[in-house]
Amino acid sequence: MTLTPRQVAVRSGFSKTQTSGDVAYTKDVITETYGSLVFGDAAQRKHLPRDVYKRLRRTISQGEVLDPSIADAVANGMKDWAVAHGATHYSHWFQPMTGATAEKQDSFIAPTGDGTAVLEFSGKELTQGEPDASSLPSGGVRTTFEARGYTAWDPTSPAFLRHTPNGVTLTIPTAFCSWTGEALDTKTPLLRSGEALDASARRVLELLRVKGEPRPSRVFANVGPEQEFFLVRRELWGLRPDLMATGRTLFGAAPPKGQEQDDHYFATTPISVMAFMQDLERSLWRLGIPIKTRHNEVAPCQFEMAPIFESVTMASDHNMLMMDLLHEVAARHGFKCLLHEKPYAGLNGSGKHNNYSIGDDLGNNMLDPGDDPQSNRRFLVFLTALIAAVHRHQDLLRASIAVAGNDHRLGANEAPPAIISIFLGSDLQVVVDDLIKGESRSAEHSGDLNLGPDVLPNLRRDSTDRNRTSPFAFTGNKFEFRALGSSQSITMPNYILNTIVAEALDELADQLEAVSKSERDDAAIRKVLRGTLTQVKEILFTGDNYADEWHDEAERRGLLNLRDTPAALERLNDTKNLELFERYEVLTQREWRSRTEIQAESYEKKLRVEARVALDMATTMFLPAALRAQRRTAEAITAARQASADLNLSVQERHLNVVSQLICDLSDTCGRLRGELDAELPANPVEAAVDCRNRWIPLMDELRGFVDTLEGRVADDLWPIPKYRELLNL
Ligand code: ADP
Ligand code: MG
Repeated sequence: MTLTPRQVAVRSGFSKTQTSGDVAYTKDVITETYGSLVFGDAAQRKHLPRDVYKRLRRTISQGEVLDPSIADAVANGMKDWAVAHGATHYSHWFQPMTGATAEKQDSFIAPTGDGTAVLEFSGKELTQGEPDASSLPSGGVRTTFEARGYTAWDPTSPAFLRHTPNGVTLTIPTAFCSWTGEALDTKTPLLRSGEALDASARRVLELLRVKGEPRPSRVFANVGPEQEFFLVRRELWGLRPDLMATGRTLFGAAPPKGQEQDDHYFATTPISVMAFMQDLERSLWRLGIPIKTRHNEVAPCQFEMAPIFESVTMASDHNMLMMDLLHEVAARHGFKCLLHEKPYAGLNGSGKHNNYSIGDDLGNNMLDPGDDPQSNRRFLVFLTALIAAVHRHQDLLRASIAVAGNDHRLGANEAPPAIISIFLGSDLQVVVDDLIKGESRSAEHSGDLNLGPDVLPNLRRDSTDRNRTSPFAFTGNKFEFRALGSSQSITMPNYILNTIVAEALDELADQLEAVSKSERDDAAIRKVLRGTLTQVKEILFTGDNYADEWHDEAERRGLLNLRDTPAALERLNDTKNLELFERYEVLTQREWRSRTEIQAESYEKKLRVEARVALDMATTMFLPAALRAQRRTAEAITAARQASADLNLSVQERHLNVVSQLICDLSDTCGRLRGELDAELPANPVEAAVDCRNRWIPLMDELRGFVDTLEGRVADDLWPIPKYRELLNL
């Protein structure tokens, strides 16, 4: 029997030897190469004149404006370092509103005129770039007559070297804006929101400060993103147009064995995947990305890796780089990495947990409850601010995770629902309940909190995450925003968090300021917190977020339930939101509106590509397979009849009927979907997103139903693409 291309590909994997890295783990690999590709503190110290180094460090750590007169010296030192490591080019690396990164590369080469060349890199080239980049989305902020775009060096995120097979590129993190100065990227609002948080947090800290206590000079968010992903064998991925074009399977009947035996989570990672992960870790460490944790996830072929938390700008740059490297290293190991939120129907999808806390340059964590949270004023104030912020801006947090892929996951009993609520853990809930009731600390509760102090040293241990179903859970000394999609940049959720927390802190500060300094004691502070908490307590939920009852309960409580992306986008441009970002100088109203437009357009475009791929596969792959199956059965019936007139052929005839009916259904649905895709959409992008959700998704689901049924009826050798049971093996 000749094998079909699919069968050849499926079988080829079994005979392959496992890919392995060339270097074993040694102490040297970790300690000596950590950060070796980064122009960080050590490289700066070595390659910059002393005073230049000092001034650059002040900009990096204190946020001081960079002195333009040192730019040439920094550029020169950076170039010397990069060239010594083999770099020939530099690039301004930025994060446009495509959700990915972008860059334009230039070489250092400068011909001298006498037939030779030198390598040059000026301060101007370091600090400012002008990639035309006019086809990147701007949501109307850039028009053709003002199409200039600039990149500006972000000294807070160190430059690094990218190795590709034939060269090395010095890569410089930058912000990207239009020539009108409006932000065209996701990093600018993140940096701006960091300043807002810093100002509001220090204002509150000053009000709470006890005489003699040191003052922090900077307060910032720390973030640790946990990254989930799938791996699939590359040769099989290449036979699936849906995976290739959309990152997910648009078709595929459930495999006989999925995740029902719960035998994947934390299970032994296959050797081939270990080799991949170790290779990836080495690459990440060299780039100074502190990757720490790795494990198998719930679904077959699903994994998670997480770094140690860093300041949010570093964390988001590093997460973007990590997603790039996941793809790059996977290719070296014969895998394709799937970052899509829901590559396979019926199996858990992938998310990204955004662990968020607020720290200062003295090493404090404002969300650390310490041993005695009830009398930890700073903790209680910041905790209250976070609760109030999430309550008031559920819509924004929901919208910050609204991407087409995430709609398949949220609320599907594998991920938090689209309803935003907060889980505090029982110990902390008691503390908050007490505050609301106006009760001060009771001996009983202190007993609760200090239960067996030798074994459970403090609350951190005690109340660690016990509710995996909550979208926003307090886990020891940080909040874990669990509803992010795996493919998402973490910038938007975090600039929203920074901004809404800044606002909530300011409101508390206003109230604290209204109390005269001499009267601002514990009781007065508790009274202020009580006032706020009483108004926002409905956002606190300890129960099962997956349960249906929660939907009713949330509605009774007046919480929002924005079920999908279009529903979330519909509220983005509310006055409350436009004013908030303007007030905190994070995004002007025009910038904010442009982002809503881009998010809505991106949703529509993703859906359109999916619908087109589905149509194409249905017409050019599944329909022909069905026709072949039909013919094979028809020929079998004719042959059998000829052989003997009185055979019972009812099974064959029924099969022929079923397949013929599916052919009709399938092509009928294709026709209707094609018609809907051709129909005009409303001009307003948010309305268009609502419209295409309503019109296209039901038809795509219907089409998938017919194709998946067909997959179960058609002979295996006629099926044109790898099946779930084949994709889900490594
Ligand atoms: P979990 O029990 O939620 O898995 P981990 O300690 O494994 O908790 O943390 C998961 C992620 O949270 C890691 O990236 C970790 O570095 C990060 N993290 C830990 N502490 C903090 C903190 N204070 N602020 C922000 N992120 C943190
Ligand atoms: Mg976690």
